[in-house]
Amino acid sequence: MNLQDLKKRIPMEDVIEEFCRLVRTDSHSGEEGDMSETVSSKLKELGFEVTKDDAGRHFGGDTGNIVGRLEGDKGLPPIILCAHMDRVAPGRKVVPVVSEESIVSSGDTVLGADDVAGIVSILSGLRLASDLGAKLRPVEVIFTASEENGLLGARYMDYSLVKSKMAYVFDGAKPVGTIITASPTHIRIKADMKGRSAHAANNPEDGISAIQLAAEAITRLPLGKIDEETTANIGVIEGGIDTNIVCERAMILGEVRSLVDERALDLASEFSEVFKNAAAERGATAEVILHTHYRCYKIPDEAPVVAHAVSALSALGMPASIDSSMGGSDANMFNANGIQSVCLGMGFRQVHSCREEMPIDELANAICLVYGLVTVKE
Ligand SMILES: [Zn+2]
Repeated sequence: MNLQDLKKRIPMEDVIEEFCRLVRTDSHSGEEGDMSETVSSKLKELGFEVTKDDAGRHFGGDTGNIVGRLEGDKGLPPIILCAHMDRVAPGRKVVPVVSEESIVSSGDTVLGADDVAGIVSILSGLRLASDLGAKLRPVEVIFTASEENGLLGARYMDYSLVKSKMAYVFDGAKPVGTIITASPTHIRIKADMKGRSAHAANNPEDGISAIQLAAEAITRLPLGKIDEETTANIGVIEGGIDTNIVCERAMILGEVRSLVDERALDLASEFSEVFKNAAAERGATAEVILHTHYRCYKIPDEAPVVAHAVSALSALGMPASIDSSMGGSDANMFNANGIQSVCLGMGFRQVHSCREEMPIDELANAICLVYGLVTVKE
């Protein structure tokens, strides 16, 4: 069936109703308990065997990840469809506003399309396949907890619950049809500059200003777009008590990202050296902590996970576009755990802002893509 015919079979009013109900369900990171109950029962209604892992206890969340399994055609390998249950702040008491073209929030909160759109597309695509009596391949659905605050659900997931060797993460802020085959290594950097306090006017010569150390270090750092595949930023600086004290401590937070793992690691250690040297030159010290937030992935275009998505799109007559992203998603964690994974464009816009928008037509496109991924061509 081509895209236009398939779209006519989607009960869009029900889809929008489900979308609105889910965005109205509060689900900040670590507080996805209600959302997890709701999506579990929806999966069970679709015939899935559902379990919840205990990932939440690792990060103080009120739920773990939801993992559903549907048998399907045993002759085919299973695939994972994934979306995350949490959303960024301000994301409580969302009031969705539906127009002809799109869904937005009332303007005081995010909409939460990131990633309710992923959840709804997966559920609706599976429902569509079942309503049309299509033959399904084995499917595993993962609804992760606490993606937005560090991919924590996927980081601590019980991977023994899934058998699939490939996964689709419905979470890309790009048009539907986009297959994100590369995503960076992301390292966070925390530097504590330790100077020496003194009276700023009586004996400033006895002090070492940590703010000055920080400033000197930062001016030596490569920042912004380093090359086509690498970025670096200083995002936070804190320190000092009052103007009459030579500042003793200053704290700096930054990050580096690169699609090339080694480059991210090298750049992070360069940052570390710069902070330490700037301090040492004035007889002070810097304590630097590097934390790898997630590792990069780069999936070849001919890999089965890409080929299957391209063929699902082309069977629907939708253009496929291979792209990379400088953001992370659960796909980074899945790849790090041996499941070849790509992130798929969902068509949502202005995510992580109160202007977040979900075009209704893109929701329909994503539902068709799920249908294409899970059905077996006869
Ligand atoms: Zn997301």
